Amino acid sequence: MKISQNKVATINYILTDNDGTVIDQSTDSNFAYLHNGHNIIPGLEAALLDKEAGDQLTVTVEPAQAYGEKDLAAIQQIPRKMFPADADIQPGMQFQGESPEGQMTVVTVTAIDGDTVVVDGNHPLAGLTLNFEVTVVDVREASVEELEHGHVHGQGGHVH
Ligand code: ZN
Repeated sequence: MKISQNKVATINYILTDNDGTVIDQSTDSNFAYLHNGHNIIPGLEAALLDKEAGDQLTVTVEPAQAYGEKDLAAIQQIPRKMFPADADIQPGMQFQGESPEGQMTVVTVTAIDGDTVVVDGNHPLAGLTLNFEVTVVDVREASVEELEHGHVHGQGGHVH
């Protein structure tokens, strides 16, 4: 069976950046996604179309087809006093915030400079070219319930 619309594919993958650093991996046949369900980044999904169990592929995904380019406007300097006084603010900490358009966003503290805290609202992988080594483990039909929910249930998916 080939991967196409409304199929559930189980894949193993190793994700590296252009320096060869491993960013993420799943190699125990425990990751499954619903094709065309917006469960994975568009560039990887497109490369997996028509693949079947046993296929191995190397996929390079540019930022535009992954997590987007880094938006410099999303990097902000915020006065330390805007944070709770008793919070020990450290680089790497994440906070929920609200964008000027009113959307909920997650920002990551990237630096602390005196009374100024620098936060970055970009996705941590924004601006990166992503390199995937993928093996297709299994392809099956999605259930009606999975199609209604837009994600995979059971092994490799949601439990609820
Ligand atoms: Zn569900």
